Amino acid sequence: FSVDLDTPVYKGKVSCPTGLFINGKFVEAVEGGTIDIVNPSTGKVLTKVAAATSADVDIAVEAARKAYKTSWGLKVPGSKRGEYLNKLADLLQANIDEFAALECLNVGKPWSESRGFDLELTLKTIRYYAGWADKVEGRTIETNDTKLAYTRHEPYGVVGQIVPWNYPITMVSWKIAPALATGNVVVLKPSEITPLTALKLAELVVEAGFPPGVVNIIPGYGATAGAAISLHPHIRKIAFTGSTLTGRKIQEASAKSNLKVVTLELGGKSPNIIFDDADLEQAVKWSSIAIFSNSGQVCTAGSRIFVQEGIYDAFIKAFSAAAQNINHKTGDPFAEGTVHGPVVSQTQLDRVLGYIKSAKDQGAKAFIGGERHDISDGYYVKPTIFTDCTPDMKVVQEEVFGPVAAVVKFKTEEEAIEMANDTEYGLASAVFTENVGRAIRVSNALEAGMTWVNCNVATEYNVPFGGYKQSGVGRELGSYAIST
Ligand code: NAD
Repeated sequence: FSVDLDTPVYKGKVSCPTGLFINGKFVEAVEGGTIDIVNPSTGKVLTKVAAATSADVDIAVEAARKAYKTSWGLKVPGSKRGEYLNKLADLLQANIDEFAALECLNVGKPWSESRGFDLELTLKTIRYYAGWADKVEGRTIETNDTKLAYTRHEPYGVVGQIVPWNYPITMVSWKIAPALATGNVVVLKPSEITPLTALKLAELVVEAGFPPGVVNIIPGYGATAGAAISLHPHIRKIAFTGSTLTGRKIQEASAKSNLKVVTLELGGKSPNIIFDDADLEQAVKWSSIAIFSNSGQVCTAGSRIFVQEGIYDAFIKAFSAAAQNINHKTGDPFAEGTVHGPVVSQTQLDRVLGYIKSAKDQGAKAFIGGERHDISDGYYVKPTIFTDCTPDMKVVQEEVFGPVAAVVKFKTEEEAIEMANDTEYGLASAVFTENVGRAIRVSNALEAGMTWVNCNVATEYNVPFGGYKQSGVGRELGSYAIST
């Protein structure tokens, strides 16, 4: 795939391979299948990429196993594995604008997000784990004076990795960097909707000199390639990010096949609680970022906003002004000043509009937005704020994964905590208050893997990330990813 762009923010060529990356080479799928890749800001097909099936998964896993035995694992010193990763990061840095442009094309992300946030986080993540590669240490344990026990960290071998479409290149870095740093080899399946930057990274894997088979990147559909990875008897661990529904299937597949270790980063319906004593300006700023960035397609999105009655009217007024401002900056991902792009696909557009309809049907008030934005054939949805929401509504209970905030009024701290925890999810949460005691008390009471105080969706590469309840198992990022 190759295209010349002449846009306000990026001028030049954008290209990437379209085959499966197996054993250091780009190849067609055994069964010859392909996937149409669509530009969400126009609705038009950009290119086709090869679609892996179980036959390709088998070949990739064999290549990975061989590489693990001959040219990776603990055979290669940690310092050397770190060098490969740093070289990969150097190459990514040298091509960072092209990667950002490819994400704008394939995901519809505004340049300000893809170049300004996603690729920076991707780069930092790879460098961070490059640094970890020679710092994995075991412990010694005293038993008695004749025995010495020690622990040693060993790689799993072949690790299967399955990622979603909302942060394609960032998710690849979260998966491959810690796995490679600790001596594992990987077979990674990007989302069938957004495989382009993962394939582009594969080019850099070759250039960085990784031995063939250490990294394999195979686009394909979930029900075929994804299922084959999760059932494969020679894959020892699966690291998955995606929906709770698919996460369940992956755990089932692990149980049915070889009890592979599974880490799951799943969906969320994160509460964002704003108390009367909050700094209104900060609360509005972060609440907007939390639900409208990446068009709300964020697993930690602050999609349920609980606002205390004393600040409710002022918050709604300022929050809707912020949403209106974002609405004015909706459009072409490559236009200067765009902050709001389309959702990723027709399916996602239908899903989000379906939730908007259900909220209206159930009596919520679309204070602002609440409809498709017909600025092109792309999949644009207006930033939407529903007020007068009650906890039983679908829009309050289920993950919309779009730019749709559901606002619920509350009276007391206890009531806010109870409503916030009334969900099957437990990924993230946020609390806005100037009262330190309340901030700590409420954070501790919230059933969520992560709580941000006076900010929101503030993900950092060196801080553990993950949820509990039905939002996931295990942790990514930080030192936690090294030990899982
Ligand atoms: P999805 O579960 O539909 O797909 C995720 C990946 O799983 C894709 O690569 C897909 O091809 C694959 N897949 C689908 N069916 C499969 C199967 N039966 N076996 C194996 N693999 C299969 O999710 P999505 O729509 O791509 O992404 C959106 C979801 O991801 C949301 O629920 C969101 O909250 C979640 N997400 C979570 C995090 C997190 O870190 N917690 C981060 C980003 C996204």
